[in-house]
Amino acid sequence: MTYISAVISDFNFFKAIYKLKIAIYYLEINNFYIFVSIKRNIMAHTQEILSSKSEVLIEKENKYGAHNYHPLPVVLERGEGVYVWDVDGKKYYDFLSAYSAVNQGHCHPKIVQAMVDQAQKLTLTSRAFYNDKLGNYEEFVTNYFGFDKVLPMNTGAEAVETALKLCRKWAYEVKGIHENQAQIIVCENNFHGRTTTIISFSNDESARKNFGPFTDGFIKIEYDNLEALEKALESSKNIAGFLVEPIQGEAGVYVPSEGYLAKAKALCEKHNVLFIADEVQTGIARTGKLLAVHHENVQPDILILGKAISGGVYPVSAVLANNEIMNVIKPGQHGSTFGGNPVAAAVAIAALEVVKEDNLAENAERLGIILRKGLNEIAKRNDLITLVRGKGLLNAIVINCSEDSDLAWEICLKFRDNGLLAKPTHGNKIRLAPPLVMTEAQIVECLEIIEKSLNDFR
Ligand code: PMP
Repeated sequence: MTYISAVISDFNFFKAIYKLKIAIYYLEINNFYIFVSIKRNIMAHTQEILSSKSEVLIEKENKYGAHNYHPLPVVLERGEGVYVWDVDGKKYYDFLSAYSAVNQGHCHPKIVQAMVDQAQKLTLTSRAFYNDKLGNYEEFVTNYFGFDKVLPMNTGAEAVETALKLCRKWAYEVKGIHENQAQIIVCENNFHGRTTTIISFSNDESARKNFGPFTDGFIKIEYDNLEALEKALESSKNIAGFLVEPIQGEAGVYVPSEGYLAKAKALCEKHNVLFIADEVQTGIARTGKLLAVHHENVQPDILILGKAISGGVYPVSAVLANNEIMNVIKPGQHGSTFGGNPVAAAVAIAALEVVKEDNLAENAERLGIILRKGLNEIAKRNDLITLVRGKGLLNAIVINCSEDSDLAWEICLKFRDNGLLAKPTHGNKIRLAPPLVMTEAQIVECLEIIEKSLNDFR
């Protein structure tokens, strides 16, 4: 009897092992199929076969770089004006301009020269000492934008952080709010960067998930809703500031109703609340004026700039305000090793001079009208475009598909194949934001590329 039960339990044991082996076998086959289908998916997206040179470089980024971006499969090695070239020598129109950093065009000779000259003389001293470039830059940039003072930083997110800290400090030391009670009003669907405080008031789940705990002190209201703003301003005596993008770029180029910014500024004034304009993406001529708030003759209390303040040549950002606000920051209370370095100062002066010398705001205004008119005409012939919106050369087309569809991505691959680089933002919107040194003939050619590419999807 014991012998029989031992045989049975042995038999069960072997049966279990056998089942496990089959399960592992199926798992491996399954993994193989998943791998093949991912690969096939990638191949389907990349209609044009990538050269082996591109593939090797993409593979390196995949293997050695963190996967925090999902780039379009194209590997660029050169840029000039409105064009970029890939490693195989193919030329493209750049319709992203590094998220509006390259407003002055790629490798603008004057800006590059300013960088080279300064880099050969003095690159970095830190702010422990004075340098011969910073004061000149500070005088230049404050006159340029009409503020008493500037606080120089490097990236957009750093400048936003600086503005938030400045606003809070002003609230405690000038407005008289009790310490740690200050609230800043922000808008839904905002994009202001990636630091922990900034993502604390984002409502993009992929930007927030598992990055908590977050920073308190923000009230979120609907964008382009003055009633909501008024209600929030009246809700408490502890409101210190209102942080707003004059056009919500990352969210999909949402242009607010006419009068929104001017009325929002007036409401802020009424409540002694700082109006903080994040012009990191919209500023420096992109929307057809030097600043997007200038469309409504608004002068913000705090202005945040980044990206094109250097023409995309060097990381430079800036926070501008008048003395009553900026003077709350005292030595040792805020800073950055690289902020205000001589290279950044020289580059930013050259980049801002180019904006005026090359009439970039006027060009953006004029070509933006031609671009949107052309896109609206295409939309009449091709129902893939459901909406065209934008200001100056910051525009978007909304594609006739759901936000989670791959269609906008595939259209961008088709644009790429036809010689134009753009990227979807928030699923079904494609941002169209070329460098501002475009010509009318080039815009017309780009419209042809866009229409031809869209026609392939019918
Ligand atoms: N603010 C706005 C409005 C932006 O569009 C961006 C970048 N897209 C940032 C801030 C952050 O700038 P950075 O990536 O240089 O930190």
